[in-house]
Amino acid sequence: MAGGCQGAVSSVWKRPVPKYSREVVAQVLAANDIVDVVGSCVELKPAGSGRFKACCPFHNEKTPSFTVSRDRQQYYCFGCEKHGDAIGFLIEFEGLTFFESLRKLADRGGVRLPAMSDFDDREDLLRTQLAEAGKFAARFFQECMADVLKGGLGRQYLKTRELKPETVKRFGLGYAPDGGSRFVEAARAKGFKDNVIEASGLARRNDRGLFDFFRNRLMIPIRDVSGNPVAFGGRDLGDGLPKYINSPENALYKKTRTLYGLFEAREGMRREKRVLLVEGYFDLMRCFDVGIDHVVATCGTALTAEQAALIRRYVPEVVIVYDADLAGIRAALRGVSLLTNAGLTVRAMTLPDGKDPDDFIRKHGPESFRRLADDAADFVTFYVRMSENRLDTIEGRTAVARELFTILTGVNDELRVNEYLRQMARALQLGEWACRNEFARIRHDQEARPFREEPAPRRTVPIADRDFIASLLQHPGLLERAHDALSGISLQPGPVVQVLKALWEDNGASPVFHNDEDAGMLYAAAANRDEITPETAANIVVEYVNNLKRALLKAESENVQRRILQAERSMDRESIPELLRQKAGIDREIQRLGAA
Ligand SMILES: [Zn+2]
Repeated sequence: MAGGCQGAVSSVWKRPVPKYSREVVAQVLAANDIVDVVGSCVELKPAGSGRFKACCPFHNEKTPSFTVSRDRQQYYCFGCEKHGDAIGFLIEFEGLTFFESLRKLADRGGVRLPAMSDFDDREDLLRTQLAEAGKFAARFFQECMADVLKGGLGRQYLKTRELKPETVKRFGLGYAPDGGSRFVEAARAKGFKDNVIEASGLARRNDRGLFDFFRNRLMIPIRDVSGNPVAFGGRDLGDGLPKYINSPENALYKKTRTLYGLFEAREGMRREKRVLLVEGYFDLMRCFDVGIDHVVATCGTALTAEQAALIRRYVPEVVIVYDADLAGIRAALRGVSLLTNAGLTVRAMTLPDGKDPDDFIRKHGPESFRRLADDAADFVTFYVRMSENRLDTIEGRTAVARELFTILTGVNDELRVNEYLRQMARALQLGEWACRNEFARIRHDQEARPFREEPAPRRTVPIADRDFIASLLQHPGLLERAHDALSGISLQPGPVVQVLKALWEDNGASPVFHNDEDAGMLYAAAANRDEITPETAANIVVEYVNNLKRALLKAESENVQRRILQAERSMDRESIPELLRQKAGIDREIQRLGAA
């Protein structure tokens, strides 16, 4: 099996010790229902008794094994075992830090967090300041655009793009004035320190100090998945080169992990269950301008595996709409491979006459564009079509076939692979069986490659542990019985004991496992377990407790047995009868508990 979710498990996220007290964290969690938090990112279907199901956003699957429990406020995937509470979900899904996730949920739930000066983590402080600087800059550039004196050039240019005022507003377009350090001065006046202004990437330093990075450009804010401007694209107002410059990366902005328009497109993507991938800022804004709102853009950077994985969290299908020039086609073919590998169904198209979506929609209207997107070819057909100049010779066709085979090894679904192979054979005029055999050979070679990365060892929750804890959660009366039955027994430390302790201490309130990943996983798995009837639950608990006791007694019995042997070896005859009596007592106890 290629791909899958083993890779994800190796990077199991460790929750850092929070700077906030348990009370604050609990308060924030209580103010947000995890079902709403997850439900705003993933389409959840009710699965009975307060649980919801969805196809997992963290691994590729066809049948849903991702569950969310409203009662326990936990999510858990029975496939890849990602799990946690609402804070953990946002960390995983949106790539936030613990602090950012906490703050986002605090805002969402109307909980006031302690002020900035109350914590001392420098990284968090800088990230917070950069977020403030980004917001300030977006406002500043918009005000410059609106300013009668300063904004004339920007407004003039914007007019040529023929966007509706609401589109301009929605995407927060602005204007960076000429003059050297207008932004730097405004930011200083607002109280931003030079180190923050410089770290934001909106200013650079020379021997005379800070100066504006963007000058006399149309400013396009690049937002993160929460809608905060973290970077900017700046468009030259004429034909000057470079046409676009982008903010350099900073603590908040990673080019390879950002897709332009994702924040705005989330609703549309959920509705359409697919996304159109375009190249430019204005291609995307044009689409939104005419009501096509399930679009994201790469904006000048080559598509990355991280971006492909990001798309996969939201939709199962992507339609690549790149320019029909050579660079565009090459980028599209590369994109096919990355997106397929991320588990997405990929279709692709180019627009007639080498037009980009912006030009095309302006000339032919949104309906023709929509139709083309609906009819976009599957990636095999697209790939073959784009390789037309190589199809005349058998060598050329074989080369194209090899490239497609390589892409197909990344497809995780046998049915689809079969269908693609059939299409390939037809399109390339190659024998279907020859195609299949060659593909099987390539796949086999790849799997046998000696330097293949070993999948990380998968940690799993033992089913007995999960069902034991689930029984206690679903039937709290059993909690006390388990407590009584286990009192006086020295239990081996481990996830089960961690969870038990938390349940006993918190009287059934939702526990938080900050530093114990295994306990957190066990708890999430148990919280999302199907319903267990009271009788079955009681049996599970009795059985589990007996097993625990039996294991302890067996260890003790073996221990005494060792001492008997030792005594025999050292001719210590006096102590042997007593040891034998002890062992007999323990063995009787084991028998009393019955067979396992
Ligand atoms: Zn999963």
